[in-house]
Amino acid sequence: MSERNPADDTATGGRIERERTTGDAVGTTDAETPLLRVEDLWKSYGDEEVLRGVSLEVDRGDVEVLVGPSGSGKSTLLRCLNRLTEVDSGHIYLGETEVTGPDTDPNAVRQQIGMVFQDINLFAHLTARQNITLGLRKVRGQSKTEARRRADSELDRVGLLEQADSYPAQLSGGQKQRVGIARALAMDPEVMLFDEPTSALDPELSNEVLEVMGQLVAEGMTMVVVTHEMRFARGGATGITFLDEGKVIERGPPDRIFDDPERERTARFFQSIRHE
Ligand code: ADP
Ligand code: MG
Repeated sequence: MSERNPADDTATGGRIERERTTGDAVGTTDAETPLLRVEDLWKSYGDEEVLRGVSLEVDRGDVEVLVGPSGSGKSTLLRCLNRLTEVDSGHIYLGETEVTGPDTDPNAVRQQIGMVFQDINLFAHLTARQNITLGLRKVRGQSKTEARRRADSELDRVGLLEQADSYPAQLSGGQKQRVGIARALAMDPEVMLFDEPTSALDPELSNEVLEVMGQLVAEGMTMVVVTHEMRFARGGATGITFLDEGKVIERGPPDRIFDDPERERTARFFQSIRHE
């Protein structure tokens, strides 16, 4: 009835609200506790220490880009964040929930922390839409109609509604990656993790994936992204974390980390990738 209260409009959708919050909050500090908190993670494979005391904080709406040489532990860190890999010690919190807690269900974590990998892992025998409805039906217990509606809305969000009935083999690498993104988004994640989502793609196909990621940034999605796409990192990131040999070497806003790194190791790394 009282259609004139603007406060009601912003209260209806978390996404819109966040979009505004993020827009206003760029460059300012926020007293609120971080959405994602990583404390002193250690992880070894055999004798190899892959993560050596990694700590990290990501606020709601932030886009943290992880960079570092191959083998520095970036993928391992992301996999620990959604419990695909168990840590040896340390803690990860999503809001008030301890992701690494012994009683925390890894499957519940994976809905809240969605992940998109470099290797596109769609089911080959299912259409794009069915790849998305599967989880909605099985994990969320949605009805066929409900799941279909949600899948189509996510496919539309990544610009692929017309390909809803296509099988993965009929889609380009970039399209498959976008279906993977839509599938993760359908679970209403609090955070999206991306592990080199474009590194297996040609530049043209990379761009369509980067565009979708840019759109998520604009919508205020909280993201942790491993990428060597420096344009995305400069334009989309709120923070850059440079990892080397399982340690955070330095962290800061993109312009400072790229143009004026404090550590010699960071400077050398950026020089090497500029000359690739
Ligand atoms: P990045 O993503 O930065 O390239 P990774 O996290 O993939 O680094 O790997 C870090 C190190 O951990 C590498 O030396 C890699 O060989 C090793 N590693 C990663 N996963 C495993 C595993 N499942 N088993 C054994 N070693 C692994
Ligand atoms: Mg990796």
